Amino acid sequence: MSTSTFLREQATRRAFVRKSVSAFMPGEQVEDALRAAAALAPQGINSILTRLGEGVTRLDEAERVTEHYLDVLDKVRAAGLDAQISVKPTQLGLDLDPAQCQRNLDRICEKAGTLGNVPVWIDMENSPYVDPTLTLFRTAKERYPGVGLAIQAYLYRTAKDIESLIPLGAAVRMVKGAYLEPADVAYPRKSDVDENFYTMCCRLMAPDAQKAGTLLHIATHDVALADRLIAYIDQHHVPPSAYEFAMLYGIQRGQQQRLARAGRPIRVLISYGEYWYPWYMRRLAERPANVAFVLKNLFGR
Ligand SMILES: Cc1cc2nc3c(=O)[nH]c(=O)nc-3n(C[C@H](O)[C@H](O)[C@H](O)COP(=O)(O)OP(=O)(O)OC[C@H]3O[C@@H](n4cnc5c(N)ncnc54)[C@H](O)[C@@H]3O)c2cc1C
Repeated sequence: MSTSTFLREQATRRAFVRKSVSAFMPGEQVEDALRAAAALAPQGINSILTRLGEGVTRLDEAERVTEHYLDVLDKVRAAGLDAQISVKPTQLGLDLDPAQCQRNLDRICEKAGTLGNVPVWIDMENSPYVDPTLTLFRTAKERYPGVGLAIQAYLYRTAKDIESLIPLGAAVRMVKGAYLEPADVAYPRKSDVDENFYTMCCRLMAPDAQKAGTLLHIATHDVALADRLIAYIDQHHVPPSAYEFAMLYGIQRGQQQRLARAGRPIRVLISYGEYWYPWYMRRLAERPANVAFVLKNLFGR
């Protein structure tokens, strides 16, 4: 559904869909995201900002996205917020020209460096992009230590990728994975994905994995998994500087506040932008009851 043009046209016109999107997204403009970040900050919840969009089809669009993020970094600084940014490689032109995509990423990282080493996260897209995204990350990391990378627990290859990232002192955002992947690439069973998530997080928090620049983002709304990892953190005295919980704006707000109140480092990823349809569909797919609700409203009762 996330790739259907028909459904996208239907959905983006329907008021009820736009209303439902607003639960996950404070607005389409970066100013909306900054306002949301400022409202979360007093609760002890910091943020990560990301402009929705993927697979740009022209290099000048990728250039505009790059300029946009340079401007966002200035805005974050002016607002005095502890906010990081997260970018999608195909939004920076990876499909069109990997070398130009790298230059775009480097420009963003360089600017983030001049503004107090603001961390820049690279999202992980579907499996054909994993190798080129790792290359982007490794090249950026040589020049800018504050760059981090999302890694997906559903992929069989992830344990090997993590071992290759540990010696670099990488910042890793561990996620379960949001795309529909074939069974020869990703664990089909959710319980295997959950277990791999736990194992990979523990591996990244192990003493021999701690280096300058190492940081683990535990990016999940799964409360049971978070509790298991908290038990591991406490038992092994993992310092709060080594990890942060990361969740999506609007999802499991109670858990976000509970973690903040318990003094756990927590950040919320706030999305904004006009190109929200595929992203919204992935959020719905994470909770099938929502899909049934949307279909019922689209095609009548
Ligand atoms: C900060 C952050 C960054 C991310 N970056 C990436 C990335 O770069 N690449 C990538 O592939 N994926 C990314 N994801 C998405 C991730 O891969 C999962 O698809 C998503 O987080 C759902 O998995 P879960 O770990 O929350 O666990 P699940 O087992 O899917 O969910 C656990 C519980 O959380 C609640 N929940 C989860 N999702 C929703 C929802 N949409 N609506 C309502 N309730 C929900 C439900 O109660 C569910 O039972 C990111 C997620 C986060 C939090």
